[in-house]
Amino acid sequence: MSIEVKNISKFYGKQKALDNVSFSIKPGEIAGLLGPNGAGKSTMMKIITCFIPPTSGEVSVYGFNIFDHSIQIREKIGYLPENNPLYLDMYVKEYLEFIGNIHKIKSVSSRLKEIIDLTGLGVEQKKKIGTLSKGFRQRVGLAQALIHNPEVLILDEPTSGLDPNQIIEIRNLIKEIGKQKTIIFSTHILQEVEAICTRAIIIDKGKIVADDSTQHLNTIFTPKNIISVEFDKPINKEKLLTIIGVTNIIHQQDFSFVLEAEANHDVRPLIFNFAVENNVAVLSMKKEESGLENVFQQLTNKQV
Ligand code: ADP
Ligand code: MG
Repeated sequence: MSIEVKNISKFYGKQKALDNVSFSIKPGEIAGLLGPNGAGKSTMMKIITCFIPPTSGEVSVYGFNIFDHSIQIREKIGYLPENNPLYLDMYVKEYLEFIGNIHKIKSVSSRLKEIIDLTGLGVEQKKKIGTLSKGFRQRVGLAQALIHNPEVLILDEPTSGLDPNQIIEIRNLIKEIGKQKTIIFSTHILQEVEAICTRAIIIDKGKIVADDSTQHLNTIFTPKNIISVEFDKPINKEKLLTIIGVTNIIHQQDFSFVLEAEANHDVRPLIFNFAVENNVAVLSMKKEESGLENVFQQLTNKQV
């Protein structure tokens, strides 16, 4: 395992931020830490990167534990903190060289060239960081996290505040970098995890509520095809189920039904024909929206 988090709890005074969190990340995985604001994502990342200690529990990174080997862990980790703190008055190249020297990189100038190429900062390298767009600042943040060629990257909401084009660029960059590194990145956007990760760890109010491959979560998250329909007269339930594509009756109240149908199958015309054939009128019919956000909301609002 490259990262092992065991029974981590964190209190800020009386405020509980993490509650007995455990997970492990394999080498080469891109894991998304997904949760609403205040869930505890940044706190978890600050603990893994040895910025703050947990109240209880253990974390090890490539076999080193955060209490005894914080320097070794920092060497192995590249960290892009939330809000990407940068020295705005420094020039891009000057800043990256400064960070490279902190890491005591031997041939800084050749490494600078590599990293500037990788993060697409070539054109901007001679500019002051303060004059860059947010997307390019984020690239500078990624470059500083990568400069010492760490095995693990911890990225705290790396796309937050970017415009849609910049988001796509940064996501692609993360995917590219992820081919060679273990990455944990946090986000409050579900689609982001789908787009980048192989694994999703969903956290809410300091607790893990789901931890699975994105592929499997996708099957759970697949939007259901739900139709609400109200007739003017009683209808035989069994007969409703004979409509092709209708798989289940989820709810019934008087002459109103909530039906589940096969995905990608619009059963509304069939329901209409069914009503005509059975001499009842359709008073209302509606396809219910049930998207990814809904499921995420359900998962993160439920009591655990
Ligand atoms: P996220 O990154 O998921 O938005 P955080 O880890 O920043 O969540 O915060 C988790 C909880 O801990 C929140 O309720 C937040 O207000 C609280 N918190 C975070 N940092 C501090 C701090 N330094 N002092 C007190 N409470 C904090
Ligand atoms: Mg945060």
